Amino acid sequence: MLHVSIPARRTGKSLAARIMTPANYLRLRRKASGLTLEQVAERLMPRAGFRPMVVAFLRILETDGCTARHRDHIERLTSVFPLDPDVYFQLVTDPANSLPSICSGCGCSAYDPCTAAGGTCRFVAPDACDRCLTNANRRAA
Ligand SMILES: [Zn+2]
Ligand SMILES: [Zn+2]
Repeated sequence: MLHVSIPARRTGKSLAARIMTPANYLRLRRKASGLTLEQVAERLMPRAGFRPMVVAFLRILETDGCTARHRDHIERLTSVFPLDPDVYFQLVTDPANSLPSICSGCGCSAYDPCTAAGGTCRFVAPDACDRCLTNANRRAA
């Protein structure tokens, strides 16, 4: 049986209509932490000479259509910025209708929520957490 997902119609309570991909998920989680690829490489790789290679590798991982072959690679990233390897691999393997809610603004999910002084974020739409939606509304105002 073929799994075809018809994107749900986006309504006003939604952020950018983007289909979540593993690459997009990684990019969102990194950006939510305010880190550049170079900064991530710096933390992963003590030897400066190897960092350009790490940056190139990370850039590939963040290119739509590319996915990590080894779970280790994604798990190592969790030491640099918060992300959930299970969510990543669900995006690789699972049909769209069985995926957890992932915020299209910051990539957070119920397993990996945004945390701030006020506690953790809540989902206010299938693809938006309250923090991102509030920020988006503030920008639109
Ligand atoms: Zn968010
Ligand atoms: Zn959030």
